[in-house]
Amino acid sequence: MISSRPQRRRLSASSKAMDHLFIFAVTASLVVFPIASAFPDGEPVLVGANSIITQNNASSPRALDPYLQRFVEETSWYNDLVLGPLIPSHIRLKIPHTAETWLRNYLAGLLIYFTTGGLWCFYIYYWKRHIYFPKGGVPSKEPILLQIWVSMKGMPLYVSLPTLSEYMIERGWTRCYLSISEVGIFNYVLLTALYLMLVEFGIYWMHRGLHDIKPLYKWLHATHHIYNKENTLSPFAGLAFNPIDGILQASPHVIFIFIVPTHFFTHELSLFVESVWTTNIHDCIHGKVWPIMGAGYHTIHHTTYRHNYGHYTIWMDWMFGTLRDPLESQKVKSS
Ligand SMILES: [Zn+2]
Ligand SMILES: [Zn+2]
Repeated sequence: MISSRPQRRRLSASSKAMDHLFIFAVTASLVVFPIASAFPDGEPVLVGANSIITQNNASSPRALDPYLQRFVEETSWYNDLVLGPLIPSHIRLKIPHTAETWLRNYLAGLLIYFTTGGLWCFYIYYWKRHIYFPKGGVPSKEPILLQIWVSMKGMPLYVSLPTLSEYMIERGWTRCYLSISEVGIFNYVLLTALYLMLVEFGIYWMHRGLHDIKPLYKWLHATHHIYNKENTLSPFAGLAFNPIDGILQASPHVIFIFIVPTHFFTHELSLFVESVWTTNIHDCIHGKVWPIMGAGYHTIHHTTYRHNYGHYTIWMDWMFGTLRDPLESQKVKSS
């Protein structure tokens, strides 16, 4: 339990920040390199993007709206970046745009999951093990492999959420906008803060509902809570959910684009950061960066079931009376 390994948990904020910066730099270079190779002359090469839009969306009502078509152009560009180097253009022309979007999200999801999870495991369990786990307690292979297996079963459905989100955005059903210049930088900051705050609120109550409504816990969320000891939690537990559970918990990112005018790329980025963050909060290493709800808090959630339902920050748990601080928790245990 927490008190059995106090030393390695008490890392300074700067130490953990540096560690995460390192992982971010390596991950970024792994992601950026293949993307950069798609720009041989320093200019984006839109492999068939326009023809894909023309051929696959000619009958779509959105193709008639120049503003909505710009969303399609942007998502086609994302598809080109990921699928361009992998699938020949003549084959891609036969694939519907939404199917391409799903495939792009699926491949990106796999890349993010295995890159962030793999590098972070290598770093904390092998390279810097003497700092983080000097007295043992590294999860065994079995729970990690089970977490990967559960995550892989869920991945096809997880990535359907951003695919659905893009589908609705391209049709103009949401309040997403394309360029910050459309609202101005001040409104962009304000609206983005409102969007993220509502996402925090939504994820908190979705997660709490999955605990408080017993059938939901039993049928959905219990799958994630079989890893309730520190030596069974690992970064790979970040996506080890029943797929419906995973989608429900991420759904506030999509629900609130119907309410708050949201910058499209920022919305996409929020889903990307979500998938990296969920890896981070399952490593059991308390970073002590206020008001971030890091792994120290989430480990308590996995061991008490009744605290720390929040996601990025501690504010929702603080507001609704479910916050338990890792350091306070340790003091109570040792007294
Ligand atoms: Zn939970
Ligand atoms: Zn968890």
